[in-house]
Amino acid sequence: MIEQQDLIRAIEQLGLKGAEVCIHASLRSFGEPVNGGAKTITDAFLSCGCTILAPAFTYHYQVKPIPPYMPERNGAGDYTYFLNGSYDDTGQIFSITGKDISTQEMGLLPEYILSQQESHRGNHPLNSFTAIGPKAKKLTENQNPTDLYASFRTLTDDNGFVLLMGVGLDKATIIHYAEQLAGRTPFMRWALDKAYNVIPVFTGGCSDGFENFEGILKNTASEIEVGKSLWRCYKAKDITRLCANEIIRNPHITHCANSQCDRCNDALLGGPVLNN
Ligand SMILES: [Zn+2]
Repeated sequence: MIEQQDLIRAIEQLGLKGAEVCIHASLRSFGEPVNGGAKTITDAFLSCGCTILAPAFTYHYQVKPIPPYMPERNGAGDYTYFLNGSYDDTGQIFSITGKDISTQEMGLLPEYILSQQESHRGNHPLNSFTAIGPKAKKLTENQNPTDLYASFRTLTDDNGFVLLMGVGLDKATIIHYAEQLAGRTPFMRWALDKAYNVIPVFTGGCSDGFENFEGILKNTASEIEVGKSLWRCYKAKDITRLCANEIIRNPHITHCANSQCDRCNDALLGGPVLNN
């Protein structure tokens, strides 16, 4: 059984006390139960003065595309997939005070953080971030549908960290921010605003190729094991700079194993062609 004290020891050894940390976690990776689960992990970081940032995406708010929000090179092929897709038609719209999340994709830690009264949430119908701790408001308040990765900009400016808790680099959403820094435009998707109009919202692309950055990032990761969970910790400044530089030098590095992947192929070309 992993106890809160084991987690606190790891946090201290990684030098994370008082820091802003974006966490991507697999509770299963510990190989044994964490006593108290996501609550214990959250409490361990909060007791060390940390602020936790985590993706709290809500894929069910995506709606069918309409012109003029269907640009070329949008990681959507000829849009057949999206035009023929089935969508949740609940009549619900996203709210920053809402506590819903795509749990299966996002995991238990973001769900727990978001469920807490004192957590904050960024304003993005599909790809919002949630945060808890002293800097939670600062880390989330600038996000909006067209400034998708504002939280990562703040995290980087504040000398924050990205912590992969037993998960791979394919879970490191911040590499999509590095793509943006390297000059790529995020993909356009669609959601409803408060007046139930379809609005364009920007989202990240395919992450399946991000393991390709392993070699580039190897020397900057601080590693520690907690139970069987390998924690890899990166300074946000390092991971964004190294990945963005590599994307500029070798754009293909982000490509996943599927040569037909629309999102990866279009990302390589710079993403959607926007007219304005
Ligand atoms: Zn791909």
